[in-house]
Amino acid sequence: MYLFIHRKDLRTSDMRAFDYINRKHTQGIHLLIIDPILIGEGRLTSHSGRNFMAQAASLLFSYASAGKELHVLYGDPAAITESLLLAHPIEEVIVHSDYTPYSRQRDDQIGQAVRRIGRRWMPIADAPLADLEAFPAYARRAEPYKVFTPFYRMWGSFMLESYSPMGSTTIDDLSTVQEIDQSACHAFALPEAVSCALGGTNVEGSPKSLARLDRFVRERLASYGDARDAYANDQTSGLARFLNTGAISARSAYELTQGLHGSEAWIRQLAWRDFYLYQAMYHEDFFKYEQLADLSPLTDTNFKAWSTAATGIPIIDAALTQLNRTGEMPNRLRMVTAMFLTKNLLCPFTLGEQYFRLHLSDYDNTLNRGGWLWCSSLGYDAAPYFRIMNPAIQSRTHDPSGSYIRRWLPHLDHLSDKEIHLPQSGAIVDLKASRARAIEVYKTILK
Ligand SMILES: Cc1cc2nc3c(=O)[nH]c(=O)nc-3n(C[C@H](O)[C@H](O)[C@H](O)COP(=O)(O)OP(=O)(O)OC[C@H]3O[C@@H](n4cnc5c(N)ncnc54)[C@H](O)[C@@H]3O)c2cc1C
Repeated sequence: MYLFIHRKDLRTSDMRAFDYINRKHTQGIHLLIIDPILIGEGRLTSHSGRNFMAQAASLLFSYASAGKELHVLYGDPAAITESLLLAHPIEEVIVHSDYTPYSRQRDDQIGQAVRRIGRRWMPIADAPLADLEAFPAYARRAEPYKVFTPFYRMWGSFMLESYSPMGSTTIDDLSTVQEIDQSACHAFALPEAVSCALGGTNVEGSPKSLARLDRFVRERLASYGDARDAYANDQTSGLARFLNTGAISARSAYELTQGLHGSEAWIRQLAWRDFYLYQAMYHEDFFKYEQLADLSPLTDTNFKAWSTAATGIPIIDAALTQLNRTGEMPNRLRMVTAMFLTKNLLCPFTLGEQYFRLHLSDYDNTLNRGGWLWCSSLGYDAAPYFRIMNPAIQSRTHDPSGSYIRRWLPHLDHLSDKEIHLPQSGAIVDLKASRARAIEVYKTILK
């Protein structure tokens, strides 16, 4: 018997672990653990928490539709694993690998517990599109890549030569254990708030993500490269929240678009996703970069105005309004608002990173960190510190009629296409002066 634990892989097909399990022909317990650490601090009711619960509800639905059993328990993952290992003749514990600091620590603890009891611990890589565990041997470099462009070149040839396609095993092919140890079920029962969150959500998951992808391919893929920054028209795939919870695999997104007109620009973005996952895997500093730079010249003075959409810079306030209300913000505006916070307002990037954690539906620790490091000119392959986006110019360039601002800040609708992008009277900073100050401050931070 095996134990398989779902984490950021909330789907029932194209799972590397399912292919592995299918070769063994044994029965197993399939488990989803709701980890209190990951849903604390208001996360359960946040946009990203609600998204996770929606995909988890969908996973339960997929198991039930296939006549299979998925058990859901609440508590410390190592303690739950240990209690099931002691109660069932489980030989092997199988998971998909995860690379964030918390998940590495959690998996060390589970792995130790599994080995202590004399069972096998089997993490399997699944999240990246390319096999990033095999990639370093292919790239044959003394040091991991730090810059995207050479990484992307090598990634492209690696994908051509060594891409490993979607797996064929689905939950229908596996045999799941119906009943598990009752004392574990009682000890790790879901609290009512979690049950309600899980039961009271719309079932989304793979069907919805595939429908989105299908629509994206039919209507937007061909023009994606040119139109992705025209944020007022919503031209991107909207798949991130499904990719990050694993409701859809990066492989299926790739295979459904590969070779189609316009796919190159889109697949390049999937390569950016792999680039950040690669950094999380191979660059120790990726998650502690703030400890390497002296960020003491930065301050949280204006953070509240930024987060409550009260800066007086229309595009910033519109983007934060959209985020606060819906959990969404287009990529270009994530860049503009992050640069504005870290440069013009001189706030530490960690404050914005933390804010996005609670507010983005598609929040992902690794991609979010990559984005914030890039915008704050820290980390590897970041935006040069002296190249600071001007929010008013960005707004005019990517949405000349200001329709995005008009949608989210209707009280500005009376302004002309020219006026609508400009800072309002009472704006909390002067764009030109704050830009010059940021360059001086970041020069000292980065020296
Ligand atoms: C400050 C900041 C914070 C960010 N935080 C997150 C986050 O928490 N979660 C998240 O998924 N993305 C994050 N991104 C990256 C990017 O903004 C989103 O992936 C994208 O907006 C999601 O929309 P989409 O699915 O329509 O993407 P599409 O444009 O359709 O792209 C397809 C996929 O490619 C990947 N991708 C696209 N752009 C990027 C990028 N710049 N970096 C890495 N991968 C990318 C995503 O997986 C995305 O779903 C952040 C970017 C910045 C600048």
